Amino acid sequence: MLTRTVFFLLFWLRVILNTQAEAACGNTGIWLQVLGSGGPEVEDKRASSSYLIWVDGRARIMIDAGGGAALRFGQSGAAFSDLLAIFFTHLHVDHSADLPVLIKSAFFENRSRDLLILGPKGNFLMPSVSGFVSAMFDPDRGAYRYLGNHLPGAPGNDWKIISKDLDVQPDPEKNCLQGPSFENSIFTSAIPVHHGPVPAIAWRIDIDGKSITFSGDMSNQWETLEKLAKDTDILVAHNAIPEGMTGVARRLHMPPSEIGRIAQTAHVKTLVLSHRMLRTLGNEEETIKYVKKAYHGPIRFANDLDCFRP
Ligand SMILES: [Zn+2]
Repeated sequence: MLTRTVFFLLFWLRVILNTQAEAACGNTGIWLQVLGSGGPEVEDKRASSSYLIWVDGRARIMIDAGGGAALRFGQSGAAFSDLLAIFFTHLHVDHSADLPVLIKSAFFENRSRDLLILGPKGNFLMPSVSGFVSAMFDPDRGAYRYLGNHLPGAPGNDWKIISKDLDVQPDPEKNCLQGPSFENSIFTSAIPVHHGPVPAIAWRIDIDGKSITFSGDMSNQWETLEKLAKDTDILVAHNAIPEGMTGVARRLHMPPSEIGRIAQTAHVKTLVLSHRMLRTLGNEEETIKYVKKAYHGPIRFANDLDCFRP
Protein backbone atom coordinates (compact mmCIF):
# COMPACT_ATOMS: atom_id res chain seq x y z
CA MET A 1 0.00 0.00 0.00
CA LEU A 2 2.82 2.36 1.00
CA THR A 3 4.68 1.58 -2.26
CA ARG A 4 1.55 2.37 -4.29
CA THR A 5 1.08 5.68 -2.46
CA VAL A 6 4.72 6.68 -3.04
CA PHE A 7 4.42 5.71 -6.72
CA PHE A 8 1.21 7.75 -7.01
CA LEU A 9 2.84 10.82 -5.44
CA LEU A 10 5.96 10.52 -7.62
CA PHE A 11 3.79 10.22 -10.73
CA TRP A 12 1.96 13.48 -10.00
CA LEU A 13 5.18 15.24 -8.99
CA ARG A 14 6.58 14.36 -12.41
CA VAL A 15 3.43 15.62 -14.14
CA ILE A 16 3.65 18.93 -12.23
CA LEU A 17 7.38 19.39 -12.91
CA ASN A 18 6.93 18.60 -16.60
CA THR A 19 4.09 21.09 -16.81
CA GLN A 20 6.34 23.78 -15.36
CA ALA A 21 9.11 22.92 -17.82
CA GLU A 22 6.77 23.29 -20.82
CA ALA A 23 5.66 26.90 -20.66
CA ALA A 24 5.42 27.32 -24.44
CA CYS A 25 2.55 29.56 -25.50
CA GLY A 26 0.74 27.09 -27.71
CA ASN A 27 1.19 24.98 -30.80
CA THR A 28 -0.70 27.11 -33.28
CA GLY A 29 -0.68 30.70 -34.42
CA ILE A 30 1.54 33.64 -33.60
CA TRP A 31 2.57 34.44 -30.05
CA LEU A 32 4.74 36.95 -28.30
CA GLN A 33 6.46 35.46 -25.28
CA VAL A 34 8.24 37.62 -22.75
CA LEU A 35 11.47 35.94 -21.66
CA GLY A 36 12.74 38.87 -19.64
CA SER A 37 10.49 41.63 -18.33
CA GLY A 38 13.08 43.34 -16.14
CA GLY A 39 15.83 45.89 -16.56
CA PRO A 40 19.47 45.84 -15.48
CA GLU A 41 18.85 45.43 -11.71
CA VAL A 42 19.09 41.92 -10.28
CA GLU A 43 16.92 43.09 -7.38
CA ASP A 44 13.89 43.27 -9.67
CA LYS A 45 13.97 39.43 -9.61
CA ARG A 46 13.24 39.31 -13.33
CA ALA A 47 15.28 38.29 -16.34
CA SER A 48 16.55 41.29 -18.29
CA SER A 49 15.09 42.31 -21.63
CA SER A 50 14.29 39.48 -24.05
CA TYR A 51 11.33 38.32 -26.17
CA LEU A 52 10.43 35.44 -28.44
CA ILE A 53 8.12 35.32 -31.44
CA TRP A 54 6.49 31.92 -31.78
CA VAL A 55 4.93 30.73 -35.04
CA ASP A 56 2.92 27.49 -34.97
CA GLY A 57 4.71 26.14 -31.92
CA ARG A 58 8.25 27.08 -32.98
CA ALA A 59 10.31 29.98 -31.60
CA ARG A 60 11.47 31.80 -34.74
CA ILE A 61 12.76 35.24 -33.76
CA MET A 62 14.32 36.49 -30.56
CA ILE A 63 14.50 40.16 -29.67
CA ASP A 64 17.34 40.98 -27.25
CA ALA A 65 19.08 38.52 -24.95
CA GLY A 66 19.66 40.16 -21.58
CA GLY A 67 20.87 38.31 -18.49
CA GLY A 68 18.51 35.50 -17.52
CA ALA A 69 17.11 35.19 -21.05
CA ALA A 70 18.86 31.87 -21.63
CA LEU A 71 17.29 30.31 -18.53
CA ARG A 72 13.85 31.60 -19.53
CA PHE A 73 14.47 30.36 -23.09
CA GLY A 74 14.89 26.85 -21.69
CA GLN A 75 11.84 27.22 -19.46
CA SER A 76 9.75 28.40 -22.40
CA GLY A 77 10.27 25.06 -24.13
CA ALA A 78 11.88 26.76 -27.14
CA ALA A 79 14.51 24.98 -29.23
CA PHE A 80 17.51 27.05 -30.31
CA SER A 81 17.65 25.05 -33.54
CA ASP A 82 14.27 26.58 -34.54
CA LEU A 83 15.53 30.14 -34.19
CA LEU A 84 16.00 32.04 -37.46
CA ALA A 85 17.42 35.26 -36.08
CA ILE A 86 18.24 37.35 -33.04
CA PHE A 87 17.55 41.07 -33.30
CA PHE A 88 19.19 43.44 -30.85
CA THR A 89 17.64 46.78 -30.02
CA HIS A 90 20.98 47.88 -28.58
CA LEU A 91 23.92 46.37 -26.77
CA HIS A 92 23.58 47.42 -23.16
CA VAL A 93 24.31 44.50 -20.81
CA ASP A 94 20.63 44.02 -19.92
CA HIS A 95 19.85 43.39 -23.62
CA SER A 96 22.80 41.31 -24.77
CA ALA A 97 24.66 39.47 -21.98
CA ASP A 98 23.16 36.01 -22.52
CA LEU A 99 24.10 35.70 -26.20
CA PRO A 100 27.18 33.50 -25.54
CA VAL A 101 25.12 31.29 -23.19
CA LEU A 102 22.67 30.57 -26.01
CA ILE A 103 25.39 30.03 -28.60
CA LYS A 104 27.15 27.50 -26.35
CA SER A 105 23.89 25.75 -25.51
CA ALA A 106 23.28 25.20 -29.23
CA PHE A 107 26.28 22.85 -29.24
CA PHE A 108 24.07 20.30 -27.49
CA GLU A 109 21.28 20.69 -30.05
CA ASN A 110 20.93 19.67 -33.64
CA ARG A 111 21.31 23.11 -35.13
CA SER A 112 22.41 23.19 -38.75
CA ARG A 113 21.10 26.48 -40.19
CA ASP A 114 23.12 29.70 -39.87
CA LEU A 115 21.92 32.23 -37.32
CA LEU A 116 21.28 35.80 -38.41
CA ILE A 117 22.13 38.43 -35.79
CA LEU A 118 21.09 42.00 -36.51
CA GLY A 119 21.53 45.17 -34.51
CA PRO A 120 22.68 48.76 -34.66
CA LYS A 121 25.89 50.18 -36.05
CA GLY A 122 28.39 51.29 -33.43
CA ASN A 123 29.78 54.60 -32.26
CA PHE A 124 32.39 55.92 -29.79
CA LEU A 125 30.48 54.32 -26.90
CA MET A 126 29.28 50.98 -28.23
CA PRO A 127 30.49 48.47 -30.82
CA SER A 128 28.36 47.60 -33.82
CA VAL A 129 26.52 44.32 -33.45
CA SER A 130 29.04 42.65 -35.79
CA GLY A 131 31.86 44.12 -33.66
CA PHE A 132 30.12 42.75 -30.56
CA VAL A 133 29.90 39.29 -32.12
CA SER A 134 33.61 39.47 -33.07
CA ALA A 135 34.58 40.68 -29.60
CA MET A 136 33.05 37.51 -28.21
CA PHE A 137 33.63 34.85 -30.84
CA ASP A 138 36.56 35.90 -33.07
CA PRO A 139 38.70 32.73 -33.29
CA ASP A 140 41.90 34.70 -32.52
CA ARG A 141 40.90 37.55 -30.23
CA GLY A 142 37.38 36.85 -28.98
CA ALA A 143 36.66 36.48 -25.27
CA TYR A 144 34.95 33.16 -26.12
CA ARG A 145 37.35 32.28 -28.95
CA TYR A 146 36.77 28.60 -28.19
CA LEU A 147 33.37 29.09 -29.89
CA GLY A 148 35.05 30.73 -32.92
CA ASN A 149 34.00 27.87 -35.18
CA HIS A 150 30.68 29.72 -35.60
CA LEU A 151 32.18 32.76 -37.33
CA PRO A 152 32.20 32.87 -41.14
CA GLY A 153 35.56 31.81 -42.55
CA ALA A 154 36.38 29.55 -39.63
CA PRO A 155 37.20 25.99 -40.66
CA GLY A 156 34.62 23.23 -40.43
CA ASN A 157 31.03 22.86 -41.47
CA ASP A 158 29.50 24.21 -38.28
CA TRP A 159 26.60 26.60 -38.56
CA LYS A 160 27.69 30.23 -38.73
CA ILE A 161 26.65 33.49 -37.14
CA ILE A 162 25.84 36.01 -39.87
CA SER A 163 25.86 39.44 -38.26
CA LYS A 164 24.66 42.64 -39.91
CA ASP A 165 24.66 46.25 -38.71
CA LEU A 166 21.76 48.60 -39.31
CA ASP A 167 22.05 52.32 -39.80
CA VAL A 168 21.13 54.31 -36.70
CA GLN A 169 21.31 57.85 -38.03
CA PRO A 170 18.09 59.79 -37.45
CA ASP A 171 16.38 60.24 -40.80
CA PRO A 172 14.47 63.53 -41.22
CA GLU A 173 11.76 61.64 -43.12
CA LYS A 174 11.62 59.04 -40.32
CA ASN A 175 11.58 56.27 -42.89
CA CYS A 176 11.47 52.70 -41.64
CA LEU A 177 14.32 50.37 -42.55
CA GLN A 178 13.40 47.12 -44.21
CA GLY A 179 14.75 44.12 -42.33
CA PRO A 180 15.10 40.58 -43.63
CA SER A 181 12.13 38.36 -44.38
CA PHE A 182 11.89 34.64 -43.70
CA GLU A 183 10.01 31.77 -45.33
CA ASN A 184 7.82 34.20 -47.33
CA SER A 185 5.74 34.87 -44.25
CA ILE A 186 7.81 36.68 -41.62
CA PHE A 187 8.60 40.29 -42.50
CA THR A 188 10.68 42.64 -40.39
CA SER A 189 11.32 46.35 -40.24
CA ALA A 190 13.14 48.73 -37.95
CA ILE A 191 13.68 52.38 -37.18
CA PRO A 192 16.42 54.22 -35.27
CA VAL A 193 15.30 55.45 -31.85
CA HIS A 194 16.95 57.88 -29.44
CA HIS A 195 18.48 56.24 -26.37
CA GLY A 196 20.86 58.98 -25.24
CA PRO A 197 24.27 58.41 -26.86
CA VAL A 198 23.64 54.69 -27.36
CA PRO A 199 22.89 53.50 -30.93
CA ALA A 200 19.44 51.92 -30.71
CA ILE A 201 16.77 50.44 -32.98
CA ALA A 202 13.09 49.60 -32.55
CA TRP A 203 11.92 46.44 -34.35
CA ARG A 204 8.67 45.33 -35.90
CA ILE A 205 7.73 41.80 -36.94
CA ASP A 206 4.79 41.20 -39.32
CA ILE A 207 3.41 37.70 -39.81
CA ASP A 208 0.17 36.74 -41.58
CA GLY A 209 -1.43 40.14 -41.10
CA LYS A 210 -0.43 40.36 -37.41
CA SER A 211 2.33 42.54 -36.04
CA ILE A 212 4.36 43.03 -32.89
CA THR A 213 6.56 46.09 -32.37
CA PHE A 214 9.35 46.46 -29.81
CA SER A 215 10.41 49.90 -28.64
CA GLY A 216 13.60 48.78 -26.91
CA ASP A 217 14.98 51.43 -24.57
CA MET A 218 14.37 54.93 -25.89
CA SER A 219 13.63 58.50 -24.86
CA ASN A 220 11.49 59.27 -27.93
CA GLN A 221 13.45 62.45 -28.58
CA TRP A 222 13.38 61.60 -32.30
CA GLU A 223 9.66 60.67 -32.33
CA THR A 224 10.31 57.81 -34.72
CA LEU A 225 8.59 54.87 -33.01
CA GLU A 226 5.05 56.01 -33.81
CA LYS A 227 5.79 55.54 -37.51
CA LEU A 228 7.17 52.00 -37.10
CA ALA A 229 4.34 51.02 -34.72
CA LYS A 230 1.53 52.31 -36.95
CA ASP A 231 -1.58 50.11 -36.50
CA THR A 232 0.48 47.40 -34.82
CA ASP A 233 -1.36 44.70 -32.88
CA ILE A 234 1.04 44.74 -29.93
CA LEU A 235 3.50 47.44 -28.93
CA VAL A 236 5.98 46.28 -26.30
CA ALA A 237 7.08 49.55 -24.71
CA HIS A 238 9.76 49.86 -22.08
CA ASN A 239 8.48 51.27 -18.82
CA ALA A 240 11.90 52.09 -17.38
CA ILE A 241 11.07 55.35 -15.60
CA PRO A 242 8.10 56.78 -13.73
CA GLU A 243 6.43 60.05 -14.71
CA GLY A 244 8.37 63.18 -13.79
CA MET A 245 11.84 61.65 -13.85
CA THR A 246 14.58 64.01 -15.02
CA GLY A 247 18.32 63.93 -15.72
CA VAL A 248 20.16 61.01 -17.31
CA ALA A 249 17.28 58.56 -16.81
CA ARG A 250 14.91 60.82 -18.80
CA ARG A 251 17.49 61.40 -21.51
CA LEU A 252 17.61 57.60 -21.98
CA HIS A 253 13.99 56.58 -21.37
CA MET A 254 10.38 57.63 -22.00
CA PRO A 255 7.87 58.31 -19.22
CA PRO A 256 4.39 56.70 -19.20
CA SER A 257 2.71 59.80 -20.69
CA GLU A 258 5.05 59.59 -23.70
CA ILE A 259 4.33 55.87 -24.12
CA GLY A 260 0.61 56.67 -24.08
CA ARG A 261 1.04 59.40 -26.68
CA ILE A 262 2.97 57.09 -29.01
CA ALA A 263 0.42 54.27 -28.58
CA GLN A 264 -2.44 56.65 -29.34
CA THR A 265 -0.77 58.30 -32.36
CA ALA A 266 0.15 54.89 -33.82
CA HIS A 267 -3.31 53.35 -33.11
CA VAL A 268 -1.72 50.48 -31.21
CA LYS A 269 -4.24 47.70 -30.52
CA THR A 270 -2.65 46.39 -27.28
CA LEU A 271 0.10 47.97 -25.22
CA VAL A 272 2.44 45.71 -23.25
CA LEU A 273 4.63 47.46 -20.68
CA SER A 274 7.92 45.73 -19.96
CA HIS A 275 11.53 46.47 -18.83
CA ARG A 276 10.07 46.93 -15.37
CA MET A 277 12.48 48.26 -12.79
CA LEU A 278 12.42 48.98 -9.06
CA ARG A 279 11.54 52.59 -9.85
CA THR A 280 8.44 51.56 -11.83
CA LEU A 281 7.43 48.29 -10.13
CA GLY A 282 4.68 48.96 -7.61
CA ASN A 283 3.80 52.15 -9.50
CA GLU A 284 1.44 50.44 -11.93
CA GLU A 285 -1.66 52.44 -11.04
CA GLU A 286 0.12 55.74 -11.59
CA THR A 287 1.71 54.42 -14.80
CA ILE A 288 -1.71 53.47 -16.17
CA LYS A 289 -3.11 56.88 -15.20
CA TYR A 290 -0.44 58.68 -17.25
CA VAL A 291 -0.61 56.28 -20.21
CA LYS A 292 -4.41 56.71 -20.31
CA LYS A 293 -4.14 60.47 -20.67
CA ALA A 294 -3.66 59.76 -24.37
CA TYR A 295 -4.15 56.02 -25.00
CA HIS A 296 -7.45 54.25 -24.34
CA GLY A 297 -6.69 50.72 -25.58
CA PRO A 298 -5.85 47.71 -23.41
CA ILE A 299 -2.69 47.93 -21.28
CA ARG A 300 -0.86 44.87 -19.91
CA PHE A 301 2.16 44.65 -17.65
CA ALA A 302 4.68 42.01 -18.74
CA ASN A 303 6.04 39.27 -16.50
CA ASP A 304 8.67 36.69 -17.39
CA LEU A 305 7.26 33.88 -19.55
CA ASP A 306 3.94 35.66 -20.20
CA CYS A 307 2.40 34.93 -23.60
CA PHE A 308 0.44 37.48 -25.64
CA ARG A 309 -1.48 36.73 -28.82
CA PRO A 310 -1.51 39.54 -31.39
ZN1 LIG B 1 17.62 48.29 -20.79
